Amino acid sequence: MDFYHLLPKIELHAHLNGSLSNSTLAELRELKYGKEVPSGTDDCFYKILNGESLTLEECFKKFQYAHDLTDRREALARATERVIEEFAKDSVIYLELRTTPKCTAQMTKREYLTTVLDVIRKSSENQRGIVVKLLPSIDRSKGVQEAMENVNLAIELSSSFPGLMVAFDLSGNPFGTTFSDFVPALQRAREHGFRLALHCGEFEDEQEVKEMFALGVDRIGHGTFIEGENLAFAQEHKIPFECCLTSNVKCKTVPSYEDHHVAKLLKLKHPVCVCTDDFGVFETSLSQELKICASTFSLTNTDMVEMQRNAIEYSFASEQEKKELRAKIEQFSETLSKEL
Ligand SMILES: [Zn+2]
Repeated sequence: MDFYHLLPKIELHAHLNGSLSNSTLAELRELKYGKEVPSGTDDCFYKILNGESLTLEECFKKFQYAHDLTDRREALARATERVIEEFAKDSVIYLELRTTPKCTAQMTKREYLTTVLDVIRKSSENQRGIVVKLLPSIDRSKGVQEAMENVNLAIELSSSFPGLMVAFDLSGNPFGTTFSDFVPALQRAREHGFRLALHCGEFEDEQEVKEMFALGVDRIGHGTFIEGENLAFAQEHKIPFECCLTSNVKCKTVPSYEDHHVAKLLKLKHPVCVCTDDFGVFETSLSQELKICASTFSLTNTDMVEMQRNAIEYSFASEQEKKELRAKIEQFSETLSKEL
């Protein structure tokens, strides 16, 4: 096994729906539709079942599949279990998972959120060597009312699931929405102890980034277009960036790995953590993302251990959890130095 696989890793930006692997999608499909193999109308799923390679357009279809296949509690619980298992298999020791509570024909938003939280709670009881937290998301495209609904629901459920919901995420298609409309909901979340890990500067909108900074952002999701004054502000306040290399390259928000803004941040020695975003959709893993980052920017194994050590400090884990995570990285680092 290689260094990247064995390295204990910290994942701070992963969406539940985008983190369903092909085998998870296949399993969920069988759960919902039975063993019947899809016919010509569903070519793309046929390819997934047969392990054939997919075009980028076909990869994006996985978001729709994930949505359709997790519309009931049993399937959603299975999906959450699988995602946690696959991160754990990749030696991820701490995972912050994001998801927007959804209401479907078979479940309410409350049922959605409690289903995911129950699985997370069980996973920590099973002591699989991975600590998992949930970041409820606000999907901008769903509007302000839903945003406030999600915040109120999370506040209400947080006492039943102490320590599991640590922050709020703001994601989704920003076009046609105005950030300031979401401020009251995010403010309310913060007043109730939630940190804010927002998709920020994902598109070119200097003013919006300013407004997010004025509200107070604990971590920056992507931050592709944070430059000039905004970058200076982020530097001054040491706000960590969550950088998702393959996701950005495949979505074409950055032209190539070499041109990824993580290069600039590494040069500035700005706090950065490398994350997957949607490992199922983009067919990657956290090990692979770290490997790509190291090989593109000539980073050593020691640099990569250091990156994981630092990511613990940017996480929303409790002090006790951070202590245990640090110990795991130290143990790995000692073994590594003995081998050298
Ligand atoms: Zn994201």
